[in-house]
Amino acid sequence: MIKVKKRKILLLPGDGIGPEVIAEVKKIINWFNDKKSLDFEIDQELVGGCSYDKHGTPITDEVFYKALESEVIMLGAVGGPTWDNLEFSKKPERALLKLRKELKLFANLRPAICFKQLVDASTLKPEVVSGLDIMIVRELTGGIYFGEPRGIKPIENGERKGINTHTYTTSEITRVARIAFDLARKRSNKVTSCEKSNVMEAGQLWKEEVQELHEKEYKDVELSHMLADNCAMQLLRNPKQFDVIVTDNLFGDMLSDQASMLTGSLGLLPSASLGAKNKDGEMRAMYEPIHGSAPDIAGKGIANPIASILSFGMALRYSLDLDKEADILEKAVQDVLNDGLRTKDIMSEGMKETSTSAMGDAIISKLQ
Ligand code: NAD
Repeated sequence: MIKVKKRKILLLPGDGIGPEVIAEVKKIINWFNDKKSLDFEIDQELVGGCSYDKHGTPITDEVFYKALESEVIMLGAVGGPTWDNLEFSKKPERALLKLRKELKLFANLRPAICFKQLVDASTLKPEVVSGLDIMIVRELTGGIYFGEPRGIKPIENGERKGINTHTYTTSEITRVARIAFDLARKRSNKVTSCEKSNVMEAGQLWKEEVQELHEKEYKDVELSHMLADNCAMQLLRNPKQFDVIVTDNLFGDMLSDQASMLTGSLGLLPSASLGAKNKDGEMRAMYEPIHGSAPDIAGKGIANPIASILSFGMALRYSLDLDKEADILEKAVQDVLNDGLRTKDIMSEGMKETSTSAMGDAIISKLQ
């Protein structure tokens, strides 16, 4: 059989349940290598609290440079109570912020899909969420989380003042909007752009730039603008009206968390962060489940690996151009859920409870 070009995948399992769920992703990657002759080259490194414990830093230069050269990074999760009291620069989360910033991961993609088998896990009525399939595109490297000036300073009356600055430029807005329009073309061809143009100048610019890009390059895509607070309400009232939502860093943080809860479980939801090209002209990207390191269940073998496995599905689709393989993987996950297999977090009456690794094995058996 003809072997294709080696594709470099860097696994960064991290802390807590990270290593448990990434172990299942590794099995799936190996399955694709063995059975589909896909030449994925896997490397694995420490990041987060475990890196601090070994090296005194949440990410070493060596790992950072490896990440810069990798086409795909699969991250588990970082952090946990062990490292909560470290000084700011040593905290596990600093590794993620550094990766996001230096890899210029400017677009965060979070699908919120409600699996029909798990409709009852949502707090909303089944008819509101059944069949839900939306994609939130959040700007990730600009806006108020990074804007200058920032800080806390004393003021004359003896009080203190906290300052953060919300800024966006034309290119920051258009590059993320372009990703949203391109995605919409492969889905239901609808983009909703969210901001607060009624009260924020940066929001007004956001709206104007998205509109201009639409008129110049994406007239075939249906575009609507919505105030971010209204979007939060609409996500609860009628989430199925949306296809792709594009929004800034701050609103995206909130709206994507809210959307993820429509589907009921943290353990099921993947994400992708897409960025600038590396020296070989490949788009840098990091894929990770949206959940954290879940210290309360770490080491028990009960974590749900589906969010991480579906994150690898996104990597197949968005970085590796392997849509067919992504389809096969997503179908295998659906088949396992149809068979009634559930990890503890999504367990319900009449279903069969299974461990992290047994869930991974079951998905692999459906791939066969
Ligand atoms: P969390 O997502 O880790 O856990 C929230 C709840 O969901 C817990 O009860 C947990 O057991 C459960 N849960 C999460 N993922 C699960 C899975 N795959 N299977 C089954 N149950 C799952 O959020 P938290 O408790 O707020 O944070 C814990 C730690 O993770 C903190 O240190 C936080 O800073 C860190 N964190 C890291 C990331 C990241 O690495 N990207 C993201 C969020 C939180």
